[in-house]
Amino acid sequence: MHWMEIQILPPISGKDYPPNPQHPRTWNDFLDWFVTEEACHAYLERLRWPQGFVCPACSIMAPAYRASRTRLMCRHCRHQTSITAGTIFDKTRTPLRVWFAAAWYLTNQKQGVNALGFLLFALADRLRRLLRRRTR
Ligand SMILES: [Zn+2]
Repeated sequence: MHWMEIQILPPISGKDYPPNPQHPRTWNDFLDWFVTEEACHAYLERLRWPQGFVCPACSIMAPAYRASRTRLMCRHCRHQTSITAGTIFDKTRTPLRVWFAAAWYLTNQKQGVNALGFLLFALADRLRRLLRRRTR
């Protein structure tokens, strides 16, 4: 399966990534979890690569070097990518915390905590495609 198709599939809690308590359950949890932009990046990284980093350039699945907090480098081809590369989060100056809070409000009350991850994932993917179209 091509790496893009893998990324489009929503992650399944307990299968693609560890189930609760890997997700915030309450608003207070949420505030604790996403206290910094770095914490948001770490969460996004787990969403994007629930099975571990997959290089977008060469599709090799192997742990990446961490070039910085938000940049990963493929051990195989040395391609560098940021955790937010190609997503709406990369093109906006809006802090990730604001996006996450919006996603929380939209999803948490009725659909439960996994919906937060799913919405962020879907948002990143959908807007990635929109942005790509706009920038060409
Ligand atoms: Zn690579």
